[in-house]
Amino acid sequence: MSQALSTDVLIVGGGIAGLWLNARLRRQGFATVLVENARLGGGQSVKSQGIIHGGAKYALHGALTGASEAIADMPRRWREALSGNGELDLVGVRLLSDAHYLWSPGSLAGNITSFFASKAVRGRVDQVKGEQLPPALQHPKFKGKVYRLAELVLDVPSLINRLSELAGDGLLAAERIEPLRENGELVGLIIDGREIRAQRIILSAGRGNAELLSALDLSQPAQQLRPLHMVLVKGPTLKPLYAHCLGGGPKPRVTITTHPAADGQWVWYLGGDLAEADGVARNEAAQIQAAQKELSELLPWVDLSTAQWATLRVERAEPAQSGLVRPDNAFLHEQGKLLVGWPTKLALAPDFADRVLAALARDGLQPAQHAPLPALPRPTVAPPAWEELF
Ligand SMILES: Cc1cc2nc3c(=O)[nH]c(=O)nc-3n(C[C@H](O)[C@H](O)[C@H](O)COP(=O)(O)OP(=O)(O)OC[C@H]3O[C@@H](n4cnc5c(N)ncnc54)[C@H](O)[C@@H]3O)c2cc1C
Repeated sequence: MSQALSTDVLIVGGGIAGLWLNARLRRQGFATVLVENARLGGGQSVKSQGIIHGGAKYALHGALTGASEAIADMPRRWREALSGNGELDLVGVRLLSDAHYLWSPGSLAGNITSFFASKAVRGRVDQVKGEQLPPALQHPKFKGKVYRLAELVLDVPSLINRLSELAGDGLLAAERIEPLRENGELVGLIIDGREIRAQRIILSAGRGNAELLSALDLSQPAQQLRPLHMVLVKGPTLKPLYAHCLGGGPKPRVTITTHPAADGQWVWYLGGDLAEADGVARNEAAQIQAAQKELSELLPWVDLSTAQWATLRVERAEPAQSGLVRPDNAFLHEQGKLLVGWPTKLALAPDFADRVLAALARDGLQPAQHAPLPALPRPTVAPPAWEELF
């Protein structure tokens, strides 16, 4: 059996939630070990669109919801971290766009009106025209209104890389995870036969939380999975576009983000309504056709004749909500030494870490003395989806 270890906080799951939390704990002097059973970021995080929402999208309902309030501070916190002056030093993480746009095609004004009725977005939205338009919309045939939202879009692979650097020697690639109990109380985990004791154990394993909980004989908190069927387009004629395109309903008809491929081409990543219920029910060929139809209606001047197309099925893992609605905040559940949660959005990783840190502070948890960590088998960082698909 490998040498037993001890640490202050043992984190299971190396997506954005676990990695962000790990870096914040280390900055505060806590010893940590983060265990990952596949590739860092390879669950939902590197498959996300990288938008650091400020809640504007949720204000489309015309009312201030919990989500628009809780999330409103996230762009500022991420910006500070990116400039090296925030709660983490994320200097070097690639910013893909300093703004996300809201785009209402043609004469569809209904949503924009209710959008502006909301206090949540006042002072954070400006209409843009002409040369200020995103490059892909700068065309004489373009009709519609475009608003600049004070939200940013990040290159998530570079973010995961940076957070894995900040994890220092505390990352551990693992296959088998079992509970370590003493007198019926969970005191740590046995990872591939190695005992690791900790003051607190955090499960931040995305969809993997459900299985981990059941291995610990726990049924709460319950998890919901929300399936998506995303579309990727890669081509030499694509220009950057980061926008929610409004349709008739409260949800964006399509959300487009643009990502750099290793060969220098751009990849458009399409989500929003296109990727939800009807999109999930379509097979790959039908989903690509639906996306082609959307883009030819919305952006008829973009030549997609040489583009490559692919789809990606992925499920968002969240705490169970009635009627599969979207949760409003990061979520954390506590059971003794065990804390379990989901950030519910990449943008809300700082909120997830705040909740864990607040629980530790409430319990008066202090960094303890531990033997230095030996060299541990280190998990690798997941490549971007478009590098694997094209
Ligand atoms: C298509 C898509 C687009 C999205 N776009 C956005 C967006 O633009 N903006 C935004 O804010 N949010 C977005 N999200 C949501 C966001 O991606 C997620 O909320 C966030 O990434 C979840 O992070 P996480 O760390 O909880 O989970 P994950 O990223 O899924 O990470 C969990 C990690 O745990 C590991 N793991 C699982 N089981 C075990 C185990 N037994 N032992 C050890 N490790 C384990 C997994 O391998 C994985 O690395 C999007 C999600 C999807 C699917």
